Amino acid sequence: MTMLKEGRPTTPQAAKDAHMAPQTATGNRALMLEEALIFEIGSTDTTGVDFAEAPKVASRLGGLARTDSIGLPGLSEQETVRHYTRLSRQNYAIDLGLFPLGSCTMKHNPRLNEKVARMPGFADIHPLQPQSTVQGALAVIHELAAWLVTLTGMHSVAMSPKAGAHGELCGLLAIRAALEARGDARSVVLVPESAHGTNPATAAFCGYKVEDIPATPDGRVDLEALKARLGPDVAAVMITNPNTCGLFERDMKTISDAVHAVGAFVYCDGANFNAIVGRVRPGDLGVDAMHINLHKTFSTPHGGGGPGSGPVVLSQALTPFAPLPFVEKQDGKFVLVEEETAEDHHARTFGRMVAFHGQMGMFTRALTYILSHGADGLRQVAEDAVLNANYILRSLDDVLDAPFGGSGPCMHEALFSDKGLAEGFTTLDIAKGLIDEGFHPMTMYFPLVVHGAMLVEPTETESKAALDQFIMALRSLAERAKAGDEALKGAPYHAPRRRLDETLAARKPILTWTDPALAQAAE
Ligand SMILES: *Cc1c(COP(=O)(O)O)cnc(C)c1O
Repeated sequence: MTMLKEGRPTTPQAAKDAHMAPQTATGNRALMLEEALIFEIGSTDTTGVDFAEAPKVASRLGGLARTDSIGLPGLSEQETVRHYTRLSRQNYAIDLGLFPLGSCTMKHNPRLNEKVARMPGFADIHPLQPQSTVQGALAVIHELAAWLVTLTGMHSVAMSPKAGAHGELCGLLAIRAALEARGDARSVVLVPESAHGTNPATAAFCGYKVEDIPATPDGRVDLEALKARLGPDVAAVMITNPNTCGLFERDMKTISDAVHAVGAFVYCDGANFNAIVGRVRPGDLGVDAMHINLHKTFSTPHGGGGPGSGPVVLSQALTPFAPLPFVEKQDGKFVLVEEETAEDHHARTFGRMVAFHGQMGMFTRALTYILSHGADGLRQVAEDAVLNANYILRSLDDVLDAPFGGSGPCMHEALFSDKGLAEGFTTLDIAKGLIDEGFHPMTMYFPLVVHGAMLVEPTETESKAALDQFIMALRSLAERAKAGDEALKGAPYHAPRRRLDETLAARKPILTWTDPALAQAAE
């Protein structure tokens, strides 16, 4: 068994330099357990289960049936459980501490949501069951859809997209279908400089040419530049509001009117809806399509915690082109409409996004969250999220440069730059330092319009005590980076791995395991 020990000091002097205790025999550090790969622990000769010899059945594979083992490691149940539990302890989670990732809205996932999602009537059903036996599940989709339409002031909602980026794809496909239906296929999608990377990627994936719209010095879309570029070749403008600088796009209605005047559509990236839910209805701002990340605003788990879900609310103009299926109430029963019919309002659907109806488990959690908060509670979510972000912004703007701090309060996230750090110190050093302080790093180097950006989104679910502790940690790191504390460049010291080569890790990740014996034989 090989232990992976790279990046750990092995001599007392190196350990002292790195402010660490010397290497232990196991590589473990108290409760932080070094863990080998499952292939290194298990053996292909052993197995954790004792099945009776499988009866020989005539193969229908025409001689293509596998004759040798596929080389999976055999472990007992306890060894398997320990392996994955140990790995899970090397990870950071929202249930461990504050997760300040800007733009990601890493909020607490209420356990009530989990309880409801696990009720057998929701958890143990199958998408191909007769509709008469899953009326409750269809009712959940229908009721959640009604809430999303009401909260956004839009005309309809496509429930099936499975993440924010998938929702963007849905919105742009509906826009393209609408343009083609009027015989006016267009070629360009305009995207502001500060957009999330998924926006230009989605537009390019749909075959559009992507053009940048610059930002003003105060971090918002340059209205005059946008207006100057609008024309008959523009299919849509994709705008994030609140934007990724954590600011509300105040000219949204003016922008929408100008976009509509040239026959184009407004796509709004609604991933930051958490900051305005219950306070602003995007439909009133002239939006034609917007995805809602249920896994952000409506608290369903994401990242390592679970799948996403990205319903897309649509304007009246785009509703006929929405994807199938959708749930309708007909004569007191909920019906999953799977095919377009001439008379219904989805008569010109662009097709389907997914095989079934979308992320049922997320629908259940999101509706539970909405019903347990109510309209007033949701409004307070937005208010508290904004309050918490401003508390962070104003608690740190004396030690960290806040590029838009002068233009008034922020929305749900606080944005800082690397201006003023000592020569040779970067945003990365502060991010790595946060790991040693026991926090997940903030979003860094995004948005691109700010040099060395640090984007912090605390969400409304953190207490003042938790915010104060985070502020203390970030303040101390900012002070060290400004004072040129060389030790910070070695961070993290207390993580399972020390500082990795970010470029190699991203460009040449080693994702497969090769048996060292085989590798040697090959040489
Ligand atoms: C999270 C996010 C997205 C993408 O959503 P996914 O669910 O991760 O696909 C798009 N835009 C913004 C601004 C986001 O924060």
